[in-house]
Amino acid sequence: MKRTLTLNLSTCLIAVVIVGISPHTVQAQGQPPPDHPSITVRGQTYTPRSILARNMGTPEDQSTAFPPHKVIGNIYYVGTRTLTSYLVTTPQGAILINTTYERNVPVIQKSVEQLGFKFSDIKIVLGNHAHGDHQEGDALVKQLTGAQVMAMAEDVPALQAMKPGGKAHPIDRILHDGDQVTLGGTTLVAHLTPGHTRGATTWTMKAEDAGKTYDVMFGCSLRAPDKLTPQNIEEFNRSFMIVRALPCDVQLGDHGAQYNMQAKYARLRSGGPNPFIDPGSCKVEAEIAETMFRAILAEQGGRQP
Ligand SMILES: [Zn+2]
Repeated sequence: MKRTLTLNLSTCLIAVVIVGISPHTVQAQGQPPPDHPSITVRGQTYTPRSILARNMGTPEDQSTAFPPHKVIGNIYYVGTRTLTSYLVTTPQGAILINTTYERNVPVIQKSVEQLGFKFSDIKIVLGNHAHGDHQEGDALVKQLTGAQVMAMAEDVPALQAMKPGGKAHPIDRILHDGDQVTLGGTTLVAHLTPGHTRGATTWTMKAEDAGKTYDVMFGCSLRAPDKLTPQNIEEFNRSFMIVRALPCDVQLGDHGAQYNMQAKYARLRSGGPNPFIDPGSCKVEAEIAETMFRAILAEQGGRQP
């Protein structure tokens, strides 16, 4: 169990370093994410390497603010070009989902302020999964705002190992599958969707916008590692079933590329109906991830369940 976690984490971190240099160069140590298997989903071809490159972009993309914007209802985008961060505002303060890298905290703070909100109003910090590009900033955000950090039980060990500048990772409430987090009339539900990490979490909530109610899904990465173990095979099989069954009008993700954020934002700016309301595309990322997972499994000579 521990070995799997270490492998996943190191694969992700090494890959981050590589993509940081150039999406297609070979990393200094270990293997780059392989360029096989190749899969095609809805006319687009992907390899593990291309998916990671798409998710991470360049180092500049990872640390440069994407224009902060309202997504729908009380949900706002405050992340970078490739690493998402969402502010959910309520009359009793705000919830921040994904602090990203610690160095991005001032970037997120600026985006929150640009939208007219106070960073110090953040009362709760949540995350999609225990990797540094999504949750490394938790300790600093807590330090700056006093927010409560809440995390899925299965991700707690990986979070506790995440200590930027030696700071202990704060965890004020341990969550379990199906737990609810409520603030100022907004309730988020935590769905355990493991595989990418042991406690990877898909968050759902309802958003009210222009008199209608929408199901919003904050999807988490379902990207399989290069080598699947019996444990993560079982986890992914369960997670794909769960994600496919979740009600969804608006799909978000821990990387903007998972829901075509940049293209949708361009359409948002040109006016017309809210492009983020797009039930038809809600499960595309899960379809890509599952097709890749099954292709990796087949390459490994595994039985396709
Ligand atoms: Zn990750």
